Amino acid sequence: MKYAIVIPDGCADEPQDSLGGKTPLQAAHKPNMDRVARTGVVGRSNNVPPSLTPASDVATLSLFGYDPMQVYTGRAPLETAAMGIPLGPNDWAVRCNLVTVENGQMRDFTAGHITSEDGRPLIEAVQRAFGGPVPAGLPGHGAGRLEFHPGVSYRNILVYRGDGPAPFSPETKTQPPHDIPDRPIAEHLPKGPGSELLRHLMEQSRAVLADHPVTKARVAAGKRPATQVWLWGQGRAPTLRPFAEAYGPRGAIISAVDLVRGVGELLGWARIDVLTATGYLDTDYPAKGRAGVAALRDHDLVCVHVEAPDEASHEGKAGEKVKALEQIDRHVVGPLLEALPQYGDWRILVSPDHRTPLRTRAHAHGPVPFALAGTGIAARGQPSYDEAVAAAAELSFDRGHELMKLFLG
Ligand SMILES: [Zn+2]
Repeated sequence: MKYAIVIPDGCADEPQDSLGGKTPLQAAHKPNMDRVARTGVVGRSNNVPPSLTPASDVATLSLFGYDPMQVYTGRAPLETAAMGIPLGPNDWAVRCNLVTVENGQMRDFTAGHITSEDGRPLIEAVQRAFGGPVPAGLPGHGAGRLEFHPGVSYRNILVYRGDGPAPFSPETKTQPPHDIPDRPIAEHLPKGPGSELLRHLMEQSRAVLADHPVTKARVAAGKRPATQVWLWGQGRAPTLRPFAEAYGPRGAIISAVDLVRGVGELLGWARIDVLTATGYLDTDYPAKGRAGVAALRDHDLVCVHVEAPDEASHEGKAGEKVKALEQIDRHVVGPLLEALPQYGDWRILVSPDHRTPLRTRAHAHGPVPFALAGTGIAARGQPSYDEAVAAAAELSFDRGHELMKLFLG
């Protein structure tokens, strides 16, 4: 049996006035996803337990068949794994966004989708300023060292290397910056054990970034400057049972997002990079589809994740979200549907990880629609893949990780 999973990140949404009362999924011309719905089954699943923050880390674990309540330790450790940075038992990884704060408000959690070329020297400057032993007067002083690692675009990592127990705990609370668009940051700073260190670094990064030539060049070019780092998503390294051991199939993951790749790699899936994938609306959809089709040759299960619909929601662009869904349908779902039967028995699953309503431009709890089809799946007469069909469906998983068993049959 060959399996394909397509993740249109954050696609689940609400009816939009600008789309004539339709959701983006309903407004999109997506014959291939609708074919999956018509020839298979549509249902809904809840990938984010109520006590956890809705985001791709938790939701992807669920979608891949792991109970986040059992295995989730934080977002940053998953990304750190994807970057190939090892974590010891006393180490903590912390997500380090380059962000634009204006007048005390979170203007842009991506610093104008800063390029890696611009971002890297900024994080290197932050490392020169704050890397090394934790300064006196701060939590972790005398017990830990700080390392800032440049990642892709605005997504970087801070590693706290502990010689003993770290100052952080599960009670340390931080705020994902993408969930506070245009809101005052003062109300959303880190709280709890070790938070003083995080707040110190965030505050002190302002002067380092303001003085940097990259910042001056961005302002001169009319681009958004990175005004500070934003620290969040902290956690220790998780331990996950390999997917092949837990479920059987040997998997591969295609994603431009460190986080999603990190989850796949921690499960033991092969990582396949598409060099022209951007993790944004301008990604190379056909190349991702081609990579997915090619990967079917050597892997039992191929997962193609596309971030674009989620990004469109964060920017509040309904039209772009529809367009992203149409591209995914045409260039990813279509080619996979065509290729899969050549291998004999096959199944395909289309599902976002979590909801990202355009109304709030932020991730949200709640069930997402999924559609699956293929060998041994009987059609249930459902006309299309969307939120309304899913809401009326019989098949529902309150614990999203239980869907994987049904999918694998
Ligand atoms: Zn998102």
